Amino acid sequence: MKRKHDSVIIVGGGPVGSVAALILALKGIPVTVLEREPAPVIDYRASTFHPPTLDLLEACGATEALLAMGLLAPTMQYRDRQQGRIAEFDFSVLRNDTRYPYRLQCEQFKLVDWAHRRLAVIPGARLLFGHAVVDVAQGEDEVVVRADTPDGEGLFKADFVVAADGGRSMVRKALDIDFEGFTYPEHFLVAGTRFDFRARMPDICSVNYTADPEEWYLLLQIPDMWRIVLPVDARREPEDAVQEASIQRSLQNLLPRAEPYEIVVRAIYRISQRVAAAYRRDRVFLAGDAAHINNPLGGMGLNGGLHDALSLTERLARVWHGASGEHELAGYELQRKPAAVDAINAITQRNKRLLEERDPEVRHRNLEEWAAIAADRERAYRHLLDASMIASLRRCGMIP
Ligand SMILES: Cc1cc2nc3c(=O)[nH]c(=O)nc-3n(C[C@H](O)[C@H](O)[C@H](O)COP(=O)(O)OP(=O)(O)OC[C@H]3O[C@@H](n4cnc5c(N)ncnc54)[C@H](O)[C@@H]3O)c2cc1C
Repeated sequence: MKRKHDSVIIVGGGPVGSVAALILALKGIPVTVLEREPAPVIDYRASTFHPPTLDLLEACGATEALLAMGLLAPTMQYRDRQQGRIAEFDFSVLRNDTRYPYRLQCEQFKLVDWAHRRLAVIPGARLLFGHAVVDVAQGEDEVVVRADTPDGEGLFKADFVVAADGGRSMVRKALDIDFEGFTYPEHFLVAGTRFDFRARMPDICSVNYTADPEEWYLLLQIPDMWRIVLPVDARREPEDAVQEASIQRSLQNLLPRAEPYEIVVRAIYRISQRVAAAYRRDRVFLAGDAAHINNPLGGMGLNGGLHDALSLTERLARVWHGASGEHELAGYELQRKPAAVDAINAITQRNKRLLEERDPEVRHRNLEEWAAIAADRERAYRHLLDASMIASLRRCGMIP
């Protein structure tokens, strides 16, 4: 494909856009990131990085940075609120499949901050805060991006655009691409506390999925705190659910103690399972949440988005440097969309159903099944290949 501007624009300087920009810049491609926010945002959403993501991020240096900033979680538990631990899975069974047989727990804003600092010292890379993209138009040999900037409206021209502008992607809407799927009626609440749950619940590990027909929860250890993810009944007002008293009630229900919990982080999210009808329009590509969103039970959204970034940047770089042609770009959607539909969305939906099941008989069967899988080495191994996204990355040909 001919190049008119010698430039790639990335819309969105979140984790997917920043890592995509860094990889392109390291491959010698001039790149400009347009980020709407005036300054970096402390976004606590994602905290789990899966083993093959760490394998794939080695080349750009992100794995070394994540290992330095994060916490290793060598095991994962499925629990029941009444019965306690049902199954524990040890990631070390994956040691022949990955160089990192564990989950790495690190808040996503730390990865973004690291990538921004790396970009700042690479010639040809620009990161522009306070640039909110409002429109994208394509001619035969260029893309024109219009943005509100601190100095008024700006026009930016590029050969290719990567839209990594999140679930509400302006670029996806400008291209009139459907975001197919559904939104859950309930919200998800996230609270963070420095209280050390393991001191009072010695049999938990750093990643605990706990089933309960009334209020399932996910209890996660991250470097500076423990995080709890809970559903908020669809009949409740989200503003009410983030109030101190409401969060204290949920935490006391999880582990009663005489003192109130110190809550250092709180946020509420609307959650959907959606995949874009197309990942590409000519010279514009969708990646990350702009292309697919899912519930956080399994920690797959950002991991999947980073896999998109890795696939797309590799392809763009081959075309850019003349090593490959148009079919390389056509292969992006073929490789990444099935992973979003058949693996990421399917597994996260199944995880949610298992945690929230209300029918006592089905619940009983599910818990027995979890225990049976964990007790059988071969089944546990297969389960972890799926849960760690190794199986889906193999199916789409991104890892051997
Ligand atoms: C509670 C919760 C927990 C989660 N935990 C995990 C986890 O453990 N592991 C995991 O893999 N995933 C997890 N996720 C999902 C993960 O947070 C997202 O998949 C991830 O943030 C997607 O990254 P992104 O860069 O595609 O989009 P975003 O992080 O949304 O970044 C988009 C960026 O684009 C910018 N932007 C938006 N519009 C414009 C515009 N018009 N112009 C310019 N810039 C724009 C935004 O300001 C932002 O910086 C979780 C999600 C939630 C809600």
